[in-house]
Amino acid sequence: MPVIKRLPARLANQIAAGEVVERPASVVKELLENSLDAGAERVDIDIEAAGTKLIRIRDDGFGISAEDLPLALDRHATSKIESLDDLEQVGSFGFRGEALASIGSVSHLIVTSRTGEAGSEAQSASCSGRDMQVTLKPAAHPQGTTVEVRDLFFNTPARRKFLRTERTEFNHLDDVVKRLALARFDVSFGLRHNGRQLQDLRRCDDEADRLRRVALLCGSGFVENAVAIDRDAGELRLHGWVAQPSFSRSQADLQHFYVNGRYIRDKLVAHAVRQAFSDVLYQGRHPAFVLYLELDPAEVDVNVHPTKHEVRFRDGRSVHGFIYSTLHKALADIRPSDTSVPTQ
Ligand code: ADP
Ligand code: MG
Repeated sequence: MPVIKRLPARLANQIAAGEVVERPASVVKELLENSLDAGAERVDIDIEAAGTKLIRIRDDGFGISAEDLPLALDRHATSKIESLDDLEQVGSFGFRGEALASIGSVSHLIVTSRTGEAGSEAQSASCSGRDMQVTLKPAAHPQGTTVEVRDLFFNTPARRKFLRTERTEFNHLDDVVKRLALARFDVSFGLRHNGRQLQDLRRCDDEADRLRRVALLCGSGFVENAVAIDRDAGELRLHGWVAQPSFSRSQADLQHFYVNGRYIRDKLVAHAVRQAFSDVLYQGRHPAFVLYLELDPAEVDVNVHPTKHEVRFRDGRSVHGFIYSTLHKALADIRPSDTSVPTQ
C-alpha cells in the first residue's frame, strides 16, 4: 500500500509559512518589499492591534493584471525571475514567489489591484478558503495594489500562541518599516496604528531631506554625531553615516547595514565593523551606524535563507577588508578632535 501522499496546497503553504511568516512584522516586510519591487513611490501601511487584526498596505506601483492576480497568490509563482541566471543577478527583494501564498494560508487575504494599462479594470482576489481557492471580483482601485491581511494565524493557534504583547509585536513591525524607509529615501511611507498616524515620511530629494528622515528614524542624537562616509572604489562602494565613538550605545540597537539596498545581518560584515571600532570603543559599547554597501549583484548570494537577512559574498575577504579600512580611516580622521586630551 502506498504511504507517500502529496500534501494539500494549503498545508504545504502553511508549512512554508512557518519559514517566512513568523509574526505580523514578517508579513509587513514581505508586503512592503513587494510594493517597492513594484516601483511604488508611496506606500501606506495601516495596522490594527499590532497586525494581528489587520495589516493593510496600499501602494501606487505598477499593479497586477486581472489575468495574473490568481497566480500572484499561488506558491512558486513570481514575475521576478525566470531562470537560475536571473537569480544570480537578482535586483528585486522578492524572487521566491511564496510570500502571498504563505500569508494567504494563515490569514484572510484580499489583494486588490489595477495596472496602469489603458482600459484596465481593478480586480480583487481573496483567499481564505480551505484549499487556497481564490475568488475574483471586480473592484474599484487606482493604479497600484492594496493587500489586506486580516486575522493573522486565525487557523494556526500554535503560531498565535507564540506572539508577544501588542507593544512588542508593534515594535518589531515598526523596525521593519524603519529599515525599509532607510533603504529607500526616494519613496514616501505612511504608517498608522489603531487609527493614529505615527509616521508620514515624504520622499527625500537631497541630503538635508535624507538627514531629516534619518533623524526621525534613528534620533536626532545620531544625526548630530554622525560622520558621513562615502568611499567608491569602483567595484565596491560604502556610504552612509557612522556616529562618532562618543555616541556609542550600550546595546547594538542602532546598526543598519544594507547590501545593494537590502537590510542584512551578517557575521563577516559585523566583524569588519567591530574591528574598525575596536580601538576607539570601550569593551561592551556598540557603534551606531547606517551604512550602505553596493557591489555587483553577481558578487553576492542573497538566496541563503528565506528571510534573505543573510548573504554570502563571493569574495568575502576583499569585502571585509574594504569595510574595515574605510571605517578605520574615517574614524582615524575624526579621532583627534574627539578624543584629544590636553598635553599639559
Ligand atoms: P515574490 O515577491 O517572491 O515574487 P510574492 O508571493 O511576494 O512573491 O508575490 C507574487 C507575485 O505577485 C510577485 O512576483 C508580483 O508579480 C505580484 N505582486 C505581489 N505584490 C505586488 C504589488 N504590491 N504590486 C505589484 N505586484 C505584486
Ligand atoms: Mg514578495
